[in-house]
Amino acid sequence: MIPQSFLEQSVIRSIREGWLDRTHEGSVRLNAILYVCCKVDELNELPPVRIFSPAFKVMGCAMGIPEKISRNLGAFIYLNPLIELCSPRRARFYVAHELAHIVLAPKMPRCSTAFLSDAAYKNHPNELAADKLAESWGFKRPKTNVSQLRLARKLEEAAT
Ligand SMILES: [Zn+2]
Repeated sequence: MIPQSFLEQSVIRSIREGWLDRTHEGSVRLNAILYVCCKVDELNELPPVRIFSPAFKVMGCAMGIPEKISRNLGAFIYLNPLIELCSPRRARFYVAHELAHIVLAPKMPRCSTAFLSDAAYKNHPNELAADKLAESWGFKRPKTNVSQLRLARKLEEAAT
């Protein structure tokens, strides 16, 4: 069963407001989000979340957050567009892991940011807890994707 409130208040609104790319058919990110939505009823209890995941072609964007939205907004999630290049299984884990952070937030304050090239973040208690919760929902942590790490490092080097 799809948790209607999360789907409507978070996923569909993220698309309508332009935060979440769905410009092409068969988006790996969107499919992963919908899959995790179907599987995890707990998401229904979350305050509205905005999922920000732009298309590759978006070089930058400035988006206002109307007061009406920000007052009710529980959290904000960023999903890297490179997830489009991942397998569906890996993409689902990334989505579940970020949503696990939101579910755990009341118990574990301070959200953390995942930098692919940062080995230290993997052993941070918040990261381990998010992995554990995602795994309890049935999404197993995939092994490190070396080629994706290399691509991310190249992009970072090119930017400096
Ligand atoms: Zn994390």
